[in-house]
Amino acid sequence: MDEVIIVGAGIGGLTLGLALHQAGIACRIYESAPELRTVGVGINLLPHAARELAALGLEDALARVAIETANATFFNRYGQLIYQEPLGRAAGYDHPQFSIHRGDLQMVLLDAFRSRAGSDRIVTNCHCVGVAQDEASVIVSFSDGPGGKNSHNVRGRVAIACDGIHSVLRKQFFPEEGEPRYSGVNMWRGVTRWKPILSGASMVRAGWLSHGKMVIYPIRPAGDDGLQLINWVAEIETPNYRKRDWNRTGSLDDFIGAFANWHFDWLDVPAFIRAADSVLEFPMVDQDPLPRWSFGRVTLLGDAAHPMVPRGSNGAGQAILDARALTAALLQHADPVAALAAYEAQRLQATAQVVLTNRTNPPDAILREVFQRTNDRPFADIDDVISRDELVALSEGYKRIAGYSKDALRK
Ligand SMILES: Cc1cc2nc3c(=O)[nH]c(=O)nc-3n(C[C@H](O)[C@H](O)[C@H](O)COP(=O)(O)OP(=O)(O)OC[C@H]3O[C@@H](n4cnc5c(N)ncnc54)[C@H](O)[C@@H]3O)c2cc1C
Repeated sequence: MDEVIIVGAGIGGLTLGLALHQAGIACRIYESAPELRTVGVGINLLPHAARELAALGLEDALARVAIETANATFFNRYGQLIYQEPLGRAAGYDHPQFSIHRGDLQMVLLDAFRSRAGSDRIVTNCHCVGVAQDEASVIVSFSDGPGGKNSHNVRGRVAIACDGIHSVLRKQFFPEEGEPRYSGVNMWRGVTRWKPILSGASMVRAGWLSHGKMVIYPIRPAGDDGLQLINWVAEIETPNYRKRDWNRTGSLDDFIGAFANWHFDWLDVPAFIRAADSVLEFPMVDQDPLPRWSFGRVTLLGDAAHPMVPRGSNGAGQAILDARALTAALLQHADPVAALAAYEAQRLQATAQVVLTNRTNPPDAILREVFQRTNDRPFADIDDVISRDELVALSEGYKRIAGYSKDALRK
């Protein structure tokens, strides 16, 4: 009855569970899936998110399974280097940037939550179908899995919707909103076991969306065979898309043609893509920022609150920041309604800016600038195309908006 009810055991829900437990606030997590498995592919944790996870005592556990990303590199589709900058600790931050398999991140969070709070604090096969509230409590209704016939209610102090991009509770509060908004870019994602590329800890962005863009970064340390698990995403402007599903299989033939000539001295891209374990396809979508997240004793967090296109490595990080802010608000305000309002006041505008900037000027705006200024031709000298100062300004502008400039993190 006094517990915080967390709906969804994804990155945001599990981080919130850990943060609340650390703060001495009782909570329980209800997850729709019958069991939590290592699904997904790569994800990045920028230094602001790594700082919050370090405060939860997770940095060593993450470092064991992730790559500490050392630099970002930008290339045109001829394999010419446009710009390179250090990342994370290599850039002077107090915390690393981690590139990690989403499933590995989820398992680090899940193991920590189970061992600290107790296994009974997370309940699977509970698919949230709605919420109601009165003066003193909130009542969340669950079925046994999506479409399940059996249902039961749970009463708590507050309910936090961490149920991802297809959030049921977001739909309850905004029934007219409609489906996520397609950006016009389709993505094919996969992982390939391959020898280290460039520094072995580089985040590569290459090409441009109209002809085909690739994002490539390693997500697990090399095994005894010297191969790393390397995440890649092919992004191409495509008028139509099929329904979004995190686990839908994609076909190589639908996109590999865009990269057929990408034989670079630092990577043979077509061979690399063909060696993938599997290919997933999903459209790049987001939603317009909402006017509010908190309704009395219920609020939204993570993708349920602010789904964003994955062009700034920020989706998981902003969910983690939400979790810390909400925990602080619940500690600060005895009245839960006031706490949820304070959380919204701190996070809604901040994340709305990230959502909108990811549409217009994410870090890969560097690629767009060079694509346009060169008319998509190779260049003789990058300094003739764009100055180093402009490149730095594009990169630093995004860090400020997303809240991970070095100055912001030193405060
Ligand atoms: C299966 C899956 C694979 C993903 N793969 C990637 C990836 O490869 N790369 C990437 O960048 N991002 C991926 N994401 C998204 C990424 O995790 C989020 O963008 C980000 O981490 C924010 O996390 P979140 O906790 O808000 O949402 P999510 O991590 O999406 O977590 C939402 C959780 O809520 C659960 N849930 C959904 N509906 C209900 C309900 N009605 N009742 C109870 N529980 C519910 C889901 O099963 C899930 O565990 C994936 C998400 C999922 C669910």
